[in-house]
Amino acid sequence: MMTQSYWCERALLRDGWADAVLIEVDLAGTIATVTSDTDPGDADRIGGIVLPGMPNLHSHAFQRAAAGLTERRFSGTGVDDSFWTWRQVMHGFVIGLTPEDNQAIAAQLYVEMLKAGYTAVGEFHYLHLDPDGKPYADRAEMSHRIASAAEQAGIGLTHLPVLYSVGGYGGVEPNDGQRRYILEVEDFLNLVGGLISTHADDPQVRIGIAPHSVRQVPAAPLAAALDGFTELLPDGPIHIHAAEQVKDVDDHVTYAGARPVAWLLDNADVDRRWCLVHATHLDNDEVSGLARSGAVAGLCLTTEGNLGDGLFPFPDYLDAGGAWGVGSDSHVSVSPLEELRWLEYGQRLISRTRNIAASGTGGSTGARLFADALAGGAGALGRPIGAIATGKRADLVVLDPDHPQLFGRSGDTLIDALIFSGNANPVRHVLCGGRWVIRDGRHAAEDQIAAAYRTAMSRLMAASL
Ligand SMILES: [Zn+2]
Repeated sequence: MMTQSYWCERALLRDGWADAVLIEVDLAGTIATVTSDTDPGDADRIGGIVLPGMPNLHSHAFQRAAAGLTERRFSGTGVDDSFWTWRQVMHGFVIGLTPEDNQAIAAQLYVEMLKAGYTAVGEFHYLHLDPDGKPYADRAEMSHRIASAAEQAGIGLTHLPVLYSVGGYGGVEPNDGQRRYILEVEDFLNLVGGLISTHADDPQVRIGIAPHSVRQVPAAPLAAALDGFTELLPDGPIHIHAAEQVKDVDDHVTYAGARPVAWLLDNADVDRRWCLVHATHLDNDEVSGLARSGAVAGLCLTTEGNLGDGLFPFPDYLDAGGAWGVGSDSHVSVSPLEELRWLEYGQRLISRTRNIAASGTGGSTGARLFADALAGGAGALGRPIGAIATGKRADLVVLDPDHPQLFGRSGDTLIDALIFSGNANPVRHVLCGGRWVIRDGRHAAEDQIAAAYRTAMSRLMAASL
């Protein structure tokens, strides 16, 4: 098979750093061979330092458009500012969002992700219906918009249509803001089945499902959706929000007599197909049970910080051998480095110690964080990504070796410097699925994509006044 060859001076391979690395990529965008300590020959020389692209395991693309709009204190409502007041604003914001808006916002976001070094995204997608709560002529219209945005940007996509059954515990009716999300299980599985067929031959797209949470999906529809999906795609990814807020835990204890993660571990076949997003509030049994299950904890530090969710029990979960990855969720920040930094800093602040994630004496905190997030993110997105190795997608991030933040740093210390020594972005080029998507910090279509985003934002801001 014809291949494209790339050569770099240093690359982070699965077993560690390697010099003079030749990477051959087949026409489908998959890595065919990786050879270190070799001459470039006529390969394309791609600069100094190459890392695997980071998977972003949790995104609600439309929320990019509302980032920064929810930072004023509520007044006169008698309600303290919290996740729950934020959620009200968010539901209100999406009421008038059109398919064009959805695509424009997602495309802008995905370009921003690529520039930051994310090369794959898990899109937890719940905007299925029109503003009246009716299906579009093509029931998958909004999903197609997400896939088109990913294709425009050139990012890998794990598309996760959401099942959202009720307004809240006890079968509460959905409010106006939620009416665009609600699907019957049968319609949901038809949507998922159609998307699986549409994208069957595209190595850049994977279809999974996302039952929203045990708050929005009662036990019966959850079981029906899991059975139906397992028939369609036995090894397909399953994502769910879990235990993000203390109230989520308390309400579930009242409603079902068990904590939500404990309930899921007991009542669903939680295994490595699963990603429990947030999983912030866990007791000791849930920590060990989740780690043992092989599921990935989907940590979204900047969003969790923004929403005042709390801190994930990271040291205990690491000790239990749990898998985890990062997501940008509400997109108050689009940077894998900031997610990793805050994961570590939150724990340092609360424990008043340092180097929480480092494995053993002399171990690098940054290298451990980076390696775990690559592996966990790849597992959660259910695609062959997260490593520079034969059979993986050619998702390569090329760093500027002369960047002041990295200059004079090498090996694992370079990853430490990348995460813990500044806010500049040393990402120079990005290859995604064997295609150059970022060259010298720019995306070829970024001007058109930003123009469409500005048009969508002007309309949405005018409509929300
Ligand atoms: Zn979320």
